[in-house]
Amino acid sequence: PPLDELIASLAVDIPDFPQPGVVFRDLTPVFADGDAFRRMVEGLAAPSLVDPRAAALATPGTGDPGFDVVVGVEARGFLLAAAVALQAGVGVVPVRKAGKLPRERLSADYALEYGTATLEVHTDSLTPGQRVLLVDDVLATGGTLAASVSLIEALGGVVVAVSVVIELTDLGGRQRLAPHAVHALWNT
Ligand code: 5GP
Repeated sequence: PPLDELIASLAVDIPDFPQPGVVFRDLTPVFADGDAFRRMVEGLAAPSLVDPRAAALATPGTGDPGFDVVVGVEARGFLLAAAVALQAGVGVVPVRKAGKLPRERLSADYALEYGTATLEVHTDSLTPGQRVLLVDDVLATGGTLAASVSLIEALGGVVVAVSVVIELTDLGGRQRLAPHAVHALWNT
């Protein structure tokens, strides 16, 4: 099946998690399926393969994937970002929840679909001008990824694309992240 149909068939909707009124899309069965995981990682690493608007990113024939590093957001983003970086032949940098990183760091507060939180990045984890592919599992309101973008840009990184498995289109995350290009494997 097409990748979006495969993801849709494996993801499980969980009503009232983590709180009443929220329908949580559980992607763990998609991660656990070897074929789905491989295709997901390939799709996230090469936005141009599945999204013509991202075709300008990679330079065909040069081995340049169009980005120099992958940034992944704790925690489910880590599962994807490391595999995407390996697939593309680049390194991976973590954006973490508050209190996890041991050295000099930048922090950004943000509002979640439910609650608030703080994200952090090591200040020496990116060099100015470095092209970044930002990866997470789900784009909902965009608060998490907008905070991640602000951290990356504060370090001089250039976000060339934001790749997610699922975009919850009604929550406006894409608009919030504009003008950054959002590449989603499944829009729902
Ligand atoms: P946002 O900040 O865009 O509102 O929420 C996105 C963040 O919350 C992501 O880090 C994502 O992991 C998590 N999230 C929000 N809704 C869902 C959901 O329905 N399923 C999953 N797996 N994660 C979600």
